[in-house]
Amino acid sequence: MVHKMVYIFITLLLVNCVSNVDVKPHTPVVLIIAAHPDDETIGMGLSIIQKKKLGQEVNVVVAVDGGKEEGTPNRETRVNRRMEESKSALRLAGLKDQEMIYLKYPDTNVSHSIEELYNDLLKIMKEKNPDEVYIQAWEAGNIDHDAVHFAAAQAAKSLKILERTYEFTEYNALHQPKLRNPQGIGFAALTDLPGIKVNASEEDINLKNKMLAQYSSEGALSIFRDWPELYRQLPAHDYLKKPYEKQAYPRFDNELKPEIEKFFEKKNLN
Ligand SMILES: [Zn+2]
Repeated sequence: MVHKMVYIFITLLLVNCVSNVDVKPHTPVVLIIAAHPDDETIGMGLSIIQKKKLGQEVNVVVAVDGGKEEGTPNRETRVNRRMEESKSALRLAGLKDQEMIYLKYPDTNVSHSIEELYNDLLKIMKEKNPDEVYIQAWEAGNIDHDAVHFAAAQAAKSLKILERTYEFTEYNALHQPKLRNPQGIGFAALTDLPGIKVNASEEDINLKNKMLAQYSSEGALSIFRDWPELYRQLPAHDYLKKPYEKQAYPRFDNELKPEIEKFFEKKNLN
């Protein structure tokens, strides 16, 4: 009898020890890399809301300052206003200020700072050690979007975390004429990888709309109110080809492609 009691006691002790080991589950860390202040909300708002509801750590990096071209009047005021609008939107989704990073590369011209941006993103990825990385899609919607995509994809490649890297679509060449048609959204760079649509409740959609409404300097972004969100595993894009062949996209050939070639030559990655 005494033996049996001792046995039960030891068993209980062991069960208790083992369960204590796993008591603290790992909190997933998400890193989202967007180009301008607003892209994080337009392209990932629902996902951000849902991930925060699940208790995940969501870090948002906004690479470009959103101040339009250099030398234009009130540039600094515009830059600060856009950043504050972005912060207000992200706070609504539950982000803490320390989860928001604004790198402030010059709007419309980040394609000329690819190496610098790559180094910044490399540092952030190492520091955050994310379980999932979401980057703006390679899709010829905007030269800044593609430049930021490229730098982020190269940083993820260097750190060998491509298998946990995804791209999210926004607006692109394929769908420009249909900007007001939510059915028109999709990935411009065609691969075998389909997009996964984020399913959202009415409550999440309403909250995303509140986030969009924070951008009063941009007319509350009302055209994106019913915009679906799509993401997919990052495909192996050929970065020396423009994302969507039928799009004229002259700044790709004249500005972005030469910078990408320069990056590959220097890094000897390709
Ligand atoms: Zn943008």
